[in-house]
Amino acid sequence: MTANKPPVLTLSAGPVQSYPNVLQAMARPIGYDFDPSFQAFYEETALECGRAMRQDEPALILQAEPAVAIEAAAASLISADDVVLNLASGVYGKGFGYWSARYHKSMVEIEVPFNDAISPAAVEAALRDHPEISVVSVVHHDTPSGTLNPIVDIGRLVADHGALLIVDAVSSFGGMDIHPADCHADIFITGPGKCLGGTPGITFVAVSQAAWEHMEDNSAAPRASALSYLDWRNSWSRSAPFPFTPSTAEVCGLAEAVDHYFREGAEEVWRRHALTARACREGLKASGATLWAAREEIASPTTTAIAVPDGLKDTDIFDVARRDYGVVFSLGRGATAGKLMRIGHMGPTAEPAYALIAVAAMAGAMRKLGFPADVGKGIEAALAVIDNQE
Ligand SMILES: *Cc1c(COP(=O)(O)O)cnc(C)c1O
Repeated sequence: MTANKPPVLTLSAGPVQSYPNVLQAMARPIGYDFDPSFQAFYEETALECGRAMRQDEPALILQAEPAVAIEAAAASLISADDVVLNLASGVYGKGFGYWSARYHKSMVEIEVPFNDAISPAAVEAALRDHPEISVVSVVHHDTPSGTLNPIVDIGRLVADHGALLIVDAVSSFGGMDIHPADCHADIFITGPGKCLGGTPGITFVAVSQAAWEHMEDNSAAPRASALSYLDWRNSWSRSAPFPFTPSTAEVCGLAEAVDHYFREGAEEVWRRHALTARACREGLKASGATLWAAREEIASPTTTAIAVPDGLKDTDIFDVARRDYGVVFSLGRGATAGKLMRIGHMGPTAEPAYALIAVAAMAGAMRKLGFPADVGKGIEAALAVIDNQE
């Protein structure tokens, strides 16, 4: 396969494949944002996004990919009086601290190696040692590591402490059983572009009453800015107009992605994500690969990461899998670049059949490069998981 021919199959951990019905929805005629039918559609979409997150209130929809919405959360929520506890178990968790630094008074950080997870005991100790902590930030699934943090336990501690909790659930929501109330999140950020099988250019957020009040009291919270949460709150009517043009096509895609989730049934969606990841992990381990996660319990059901074997180069594995099998995987990113390879199980690719292809292509590419991968054993192990489900 030549470099300028698209791959046969993209198994990346974001951006991911979109469902065809989502892409079709994005081709609808563009509505004028002051047209009552578009405003009603936008409001209904915000309500549906809220319902998907098990909230009665409409979600906040932001017209940008989720990294912007996370930066905007820092800008809107964190005031010059806030002391932030930043939890860093990966590239995104670490990165939030740099955004926070523009706004906060000071920061306490807990950092663990990027193949590990934040321990609730460490959070408890930090909150005890620093009663002044007023905002806590955590990433649920730090995608460049493929690892999960125990946000339900962390959220309970933060709620007891009385601080506000920001959760980046961009690559976990929709792929597993997690909602804002489960982890006492005050700002819970996600989007259609990962596990919901939509496109990456739009975000939806659950915001608690306490977080809205904190933003209203924050005199430095941006207004008339792409980083403003307050501007976009319930802004879909003539009396509260959109501050800027909404991403109309992306809104159509978002609505369809959330509909798709409801039609299929959340539990069924979570089930196939978990099954695909389990088949992939068992297959890769049986082939001789080493999981990146320090413990299998923290390996995400939406991404599988393996360590690059000694003597091999990540980009060589990528190139061979693409050239010879037509399969594209994700590389590491930032601090994990060069150290791991990732397989996304998100949206349409969270299907067990893709675990078989992933194991064959990953182990096959590593074997071609001189690593003694047992491809047959890997495929048998993945099949055994799929055959023995339930
Ligand atoms: C995909 C993702 C985002 C969105 O940011 P990008 O840099 O555009 O990928 C944010 N947080 C996490 C954990 C993600 O996986």
